[in-house]
Amino acid sequence: MPHSHACTDPKHHVDDAHAFIDAVEAACRARGLRLTPVRARVLGLVAEAGKPVKAYDLLEQLRVGNTTDAEGAGAAAPPTVYRALDFLLANGFIHKLESVNAFVACHHPSTAQHSVPFLICDRCHSAVELEDRQVVAALDERARALGFVPQAQTLEVHGLCARCSQK
Ligand SMILES: [Zn+2]
Ligand SMILES: [Zn+2]
Repeated sequence: MPHSHACTDPKHHVDDAHAFIDAVEAACRARGLRLTPVRARVLGLVAEAGKPVKAYDLLEQLRVGNTTDAEGAGAAAPPTVYRALDFLLANGFIHKLESVNAFVACHHPSTAQHSVPFLICDRCHSAVELEDRQVVAALDERARALGFVPQAQTLEVHGLCARCSQK
């Protein structure tokens, strides 16, 4: 599937939290993965946040919202939540932004694990996935030219988003 568009709408992840989960469910079925209730719940929280969310905040939300949940207290246990995050990360449904130690939903969950540059606003804390394969390919190429074998690539660009820079 060709990916060449750059998503520059910071609300992208908020508006389609439900469509997003549907897309992840479809991707899981297609790839023979299991989106358990806990994984779906963690994914939903990350998607609804609409901006990078820390594991700590997810744990808090799960703890508070869990009292009437059929999943019971076990769903909020930190190791369960971290395992769910690991699953979502490993399959490319969410991304981890190392520089702010937070997670964001990936807006193209049908693609497997991928490297993408992120534009992170230091004022409103939005994060936009700059879906541009050329940037990733160029970095890879330059690294290999120097005899470096890149594995994980996390490119996080900090600054002010279009909205914040106008204020
Ligand atoms: Zn992505
Ligand atoms: Zn901003």
